[in-house]
Amino acid sequence: MYDVIVVGGGPAGLSAALVFGRQRRRVLVVDGGRVRNAPATEMHMYLSRDGFPPARLLEIGREELAAYPSVELRQGTVLAARGAKDDFEVELADGARERARRLVLATGQVDEPYDIPGLAERFGRGVFHCPFCHGWETTGRTLAVITTEPHEAMLALYVADRFSDDVVLCTHGPLDLPDEIAKKLDERGIQVRSERVTEVSGEPGDVTVHFADGSALRRQAVYHRAPTRQHSELAARLGCEILDDGTVRVNELQETTVPGVAAAGDTAKLPAVPDAATLVSLGAADGVRAALWMEGDLFRSDLGMTPAR
Ligand SMILES: Cc1cc2nc3c(=O)[nH]c(=O)nc-3n(C[C@H](O)[C@H](O)[C@H](O)COP(=O)(O)OP(=O)(O)OC[C@H]3O[C@@H](n4cnc5c(N)ncnc54)[C@H](O)[C@@H]3O)c2cc1C
Repeated sequence: MYDVIVVGGGPAGLSAALVFGRQRRRVLVVDGGRVRNAPATEMHMYLSRDGFPPARLLEIGREELAAYPSVELRQGTVLAARGAKDDFEVELADGARERARRLVLATGQVDEPYDIPGLAERFGRGVFHCPFCHGWETTGRTLAVITTEPHEAMLALYVADRFSDDVVLCTHGPLDLPDEIAKKLDERGIQVRSERVTEVSGEPGDVTVHFADGSALRRQAVYHRAPTRQHSELAARLGCEILDDGTVRVNELQETTVPGVAAAGDTAKLPAVPDAATLVSLGAADGVRAALWMEGDLFRSDLGMTPAR
């Protein structure tokens, strides 16, 4: 019986494991190895590691965890989880079954770019999802924003405001834009192209958007905030409340609505937060917070005391 099984070994899961390891808890981290920012060569906005390769960050994290003998890292996928506080069982794809007193779900999200040839292949390299992560690097560049969502047209306004005075909004078909946004796009001189996009081609720094009428638009970078989905359905299957946007509801202590189960990183959200703010630093912080509060709960349980909450 482990004290904790952490599902997911990205920034959130590894950070949680570090806290538990340092408190000499028996922890198993099971990780499928498909972190969200894997396509990106650089990671930004993580103090002291700005511009660092994301894969290297996790490699260092795993190296640091090796110093704590009670932490076990295992490559694999958790297919199912069942049970209740003090006795959960998880089932791995290789058939292994493991038990733990508590669970931390740090399974992240998956981006699903539109079904436009060439778009998914360039996602994270030449096609960017987030101006906070990649905006600085697109300063002064010719930009396009591909979206079919009226509210996402705000992204075109945003990158035009912050980074470039040459931005084209590609709506991949007719889009009924709210008057206020249409007016601002016009004022900013942002061209709107409503032809269907048939392909995205080129290299990072020189990307071409092809349209159904045969024309093409050459840009130095493209923004596309791809729809996302949860990487794993474990939380839902365990009975955790899922918010309307698909994220797992947590409280300020990263606890889900199921006792003994915490969630951290991209997978989790406080209901009051308007939009899932998904960043490496926030994921790491969530993981630490989940583990800190869970450690307190484990300690009280070790002493035979009633839970604090
Ligand atoms: C292209 C791109 C670039 C980005 N760039 C930046 C950036 O520059 N700066 C920044 O701060 N943020 C960036 N982000 C966001 C950042 O990637 C995420 O916020 C961060 O990875 C979240 O960490 P996490 O631990 O919650 O999830 P993840 O890093 O996605 O890790 C989740 C892990 O859980 C595993 N997993 C899922 N289900 C299971 C299961 N059932 N069993 C076992 N393992 C499972 C996955 O395989 C994965 O390894 C970027 C995102 C994208 C898409």
